[in-house]
Amino acid sequence: MDFSLSPRVEDLRDRIAAFMVEHVEPVEGEALRALDDEVRPGIAYPRVLVDLRERAKAEGLWNLFLANEHDGVGLTNWEYGVRWLTPLLEGEIRSCFSMTEPERAGSDPTNLATRAERDGDEWVIDGHEWFTSGAVGAEVAIVMAVTDPDAPPHRRASMILVPLDAPGFNLVRPVSVMGHDGGPGHCEIRYERCRVPASNLLGEQGRGFAIAQDRLGPGRIHHCMRAIGGAERALELMCERAIEREAFGGPLADKQFVQDFIARSRIEIDGARLMTMHAAWKMDTEGKRAARQEISEIKVVAANVFMDVLDRAIQVHGALGVSDDLPLALMWRQGRWLRLADGPYEVHKMAIALRELKGAKARMDETVAASPNGAGPEAQPVAPSTVGAPS
Ligand SMILES: Cc1cc2nc3c(=O)[nH]c(=O)nc-3n(C[C@H](O)[C@H](O)[C@H](O)COP(=O)(O)OP(=O)(O)OC[C@H]3O[C@@H](n4cnc5c(N)ncnc54)[C@H](O)[C@@H]3O)c2cc1C
Repeated sequence: MDFSLSPRVEDLRDRIAAFMVEHVEPVEGEALRALDDEVRPGIAYPRVLVDLRERAKAEGLWNLFLANEHDGVGLTNWEYGVRWLTPLLEGEIRSCFSMTEPERAGSDPTNLATRAERDGDEWVIDGHEWFTSGAVGAEVAIVMAVTDPDAPPHRRASMILVPLDAPGFNLVRPVSVMGHDGGPGHCEIRYERCRVPASNLLGEQGRGFAIAQDRLGPGRIHHCMRAIGGAERALELMCERAIEREAFGGPLADKQFVQDFIARSRIEIDGARLMTMHAAWKMDTEGKRAARQEISEIKVVAANVFMDVLDRAIQVHGALGVSDDLPLALMWRQGRWLRLADGPYEVHKMAIALRELKGAKARMDETVAASPNGAGPEAQPVAPSTVGAPS
């Protein structure tokens, strides 16, 4: 694996870093306040973000994730349909995604209870969802609903586009998350006899989980990349504070406890970055399906590294670290949920272990088959009953 960046990527990385310092960091606080104050139904983004996006577009730093020559633009993007696709990609409107239910579907989405039934040329949707992130100010929700209740679990559900002004779409409340319910929100929604045209089905009927898998691979790795970026920023702030702040006769940077924080953070971030780059490389060269194990691994590692580095950065800043004068406390609130969303930590670890066990079981079976009498070594370990569960 070659870790050197192409001249094009190196140029993009330098320009993005300069853009962040010159244009994003000076308005960071203002943008966060504006998200809370300005976003409401009909307003997807606050003015300050709209202006930043225009500037990024003008400088060719927009929608970089679509420039993936190996995976291409991706099926699901096009399936969002030109009604919605162009303004979404232009950043003029936002979408949100509704799959998690307070009563049923969460870690195990096959428990989904939200139902969509055909009535002539329409889908009629009934369900209770929450943590539909970004619903306030969004134009359209992508709803996962059971359309084929008698099919096997992973073929029961479909994705359906629901404009937020559709009859029967009821935004109950943004759920308060760690004391915060402003801005785009993580919303509770009731779909009550909610009617949309039959053509709002995304892709094939019953293929909702397949589309979700397509989205989740790249989506998860993007979360990891953001987590690593956040951890880098926290380490930078930690180092600056350690150099500037004095206690017990000298700078914090001279204390070995603090040096341990800094060294461990650097080691963990670099490890997470290498794992992420490896997972991304495997996705690009062998495809999303082949890279599922590496994506699960990095989802576990990156979220934890982010939280651990942030926690140390907060500690080195003392009271300032938990204040809202710095972005660390906000980053902690944003980062904590990475261990839950897009598959909780424990579910990814379960998937990793089951794939390992499946591989081990296959190797054991091969050994048995290849042995002269077909009986294999005398002391065969007993394989766990769950082996083979992940496909
Ligand atoms: C900030 C935030 C934003 C979100 N945004 C969205 C969104 O936009 N759209 C959307 O649909 N959902 C969203 N979610 C929901 C998220 O996907 C779910 O929280 C996640 O799937 C877990 O489901 P649950 O919360 O119902 O937890 P549960 O399913 O109740 O699980 C609770 C806990 O049980 C444990 N657990 C579960 N399975 C196992 C297992 N096999 N082995 C061991 N332990 C296990 C885990 O510790 C898990 O955290 C968001 C969540 C958060 C926190």
